[in-house]
Amino acid sequence: MDKDNKILEIVKQKFTEYLTANKCRKTPERYAILDLIYTDQRHFDMDSLYEAMNKRNFRVSRATLYNTMQLLLDCKLVLKHQFGQNISFYERAYNNDFHHHLICTNCHEIQEYKDAELRTVIQNKKIKRFTPSHYSLYIYGLCNACAKKEKAKKI
Ligand SMILES: [Zn+2]
Ligand SMILES: [Zn+2]
Repeated sequence: MDKDNKILEIVKQKFTEYLTANKCRKTPERYAILDLIYTDQRHFDMDSLYEAMNKRNFRVSRATLYNTMQLLLDCKLVLKHQFGQNISFYERAYNNDFHHHLICTNCHEIQEYKDAELRTVIQNKKIKRFTPSHYSLYIYGLCNACAKKEKAKKI
């Protein structure tokens, strides 16, 4: 079994445990959504997840999608982000390499930004009268393609 399959097995197991403990139904739709998120989605919103499900010929209602995402958030298999828009974005939480996010304010592209130095600085920060558990850092600006377009406009 390769690494990705192994992770998929682990998250399915965790999801099953959660569904059992909370007396939720273990429907094939719920597992298909989990599978999709852990196989080929990075940062996504509900609409793109809905489309991706359809592309896989797996018809699910939006209600099922929302309700499953809520379960996945509750059992911490999925993380939710608000990247400066009104839309919520999601990404897998288990075994995801830690990263910060670079968000293009023009085309809304989201890039992962891995910077060990920055991470160490933040993790080693002592904050008075506060015990941090986790944090998120979003850096807004223009992606390379948009920056080039902006530059071209000015000439
Ligand atoms: Zn851009
Ligand atoms: Zn991310």
